[in-house]
Amino acid sequence: MTDFREAVIDLDAVQANVVRLRSLIGTRHTMAVVKANGYGHGAAPVARAALAGGADWLGVADISEALVLRAAGINAPLLAWLHGPDADFAAAIAADIDLGLSSALQLRQVAEAATVLGRPAFVQIKLETGLNRNGVDEADWAEVLGLAAAFERVGRLRVRGVFSHLANTSAEDDLTAIASFDRGLAAAAAAGLTVDLAHLASTAAALRLPAARYNMVRLGIGIYGQSPFDDQDAAALGLTAAMTLRGRVAAVRQVNAGAGVSYDYLWRATADTTLALVPLGYADGVPRQAMNTARVAINGSQYPVVGRVAMDQFVVDVDSDSVTVGDVVVLFGDAAAGVPTAAEWGAAAGTINYDIVTRVGARVPRRYVGTLAENTDAGAPGVPGADPTETAEA
Ligand SMILES: *Cc1c(COP(=O)(O)O)cnc(C)c1O
Repeated sequence: MTDFREAVIDLDAVQANVVRLRSLIGTRHTMAVVKANGYGHGAAPVARAALAGGADWLGVADISEALVLRAAGINAPLLAWLHGPDADFAAAIAADIDLGLSSALQLRQVAEAATVLGRPAFVQIKLETGLNRNGVDEADWAEVLGLAAAFERVGRLRVRGVFSHLANTSAEDDLTAIASFDRGLAAAAAAGLTVDLAHLASTAAALRLPAARYNMVRLGIGIYGQSPFDDQDAAALGLTAAMTLRGRVAAVRQVNAGAGVSYDYLWRATADTTLALVPLGYADGVPRQAMNTARVAINGSQYPVVGRVAMDQFVVDVDSDSVTVGDVVVLFGDAAAGVPTAAEWGAAAGTINYDIVTRVGARVPRRYVGTLAENTDAGAPGVPGADPTETAEA
């Protein structure tokens, strides 16, 4: 039974996607990236499914996201790499969370927190190799890596890895970054560090640039069954979309030619037609920009979104087809099901599939399905919103 609005998350698909990606990529280690509430899918259930598929590391941006996973009972190796000036490094160290660090200041703060706690921190040094976000600049590698080695020698921390992140701009730019990263690995060795992990690639480079794989890749979008590429879709990669966003038709009405629809009348019926009201809006992550371009599936056919997407609802033109209140409306899901994809919604809204799945709002209950669902804290499979802590966190 489909809810009024719901995001159905197929955990078996996540597991199978990890298995598939690992078979294509073949690195010794695989990090599943579950930041931003698992790209909107729910961090803890996705993390468990990814681990079941063979991932041996989890990655998130913030320490707070890492702590949520620990609180959910997930004990797998876990890295958090984006920290504000007041980051709670002590809480991270106490919870066995590896810290991705981008400056000498952060290293000193972590070493200090480790000293207070009386146990070493595990850190991974982020090197700047061309993306120009965070990471240690090449000019500072010797100093920062040397400082890390000094802290390691006195037992305050262990440098477990060195990593960076690619711009995915072109193969040429990424190869330049790879060359830079190789110099960084040499600098780490010269500083006396022996790192277990070297990682650079996210899904795109992991698939297309073998030189970027090192001994671990960080897979985000691919594990959710979405393609990072414009020119190769998820099906072509052998991936299955894990999220289906759907709801039930809330109202149906006949209108005459010329009738305006939704705010500002930015669409008018060119002929007598039937309109169906879909109870998801921009509060639920439906992009307002998708007006008059995106499509939804109802009873096996696809229909255009017409007029403004409102906060809670939007309208589709079903022409003369027979649609009834309560019929299931699928906004996006796996292409094999004959429904639009998140990538198509992204194209319609001038954005990307990453944005479409991640933005699904907190008001949309996540319903977990698949054989793994019963093993999660999401409650019994097929029971919508069985666990309010899962559903409230989007
Ligand atoms: C988000 C992120 C990833 C995952 O990227 P995908 O393109 O989703 O695979 C990997 N590494 C870092 C540092 C990230 O921020």
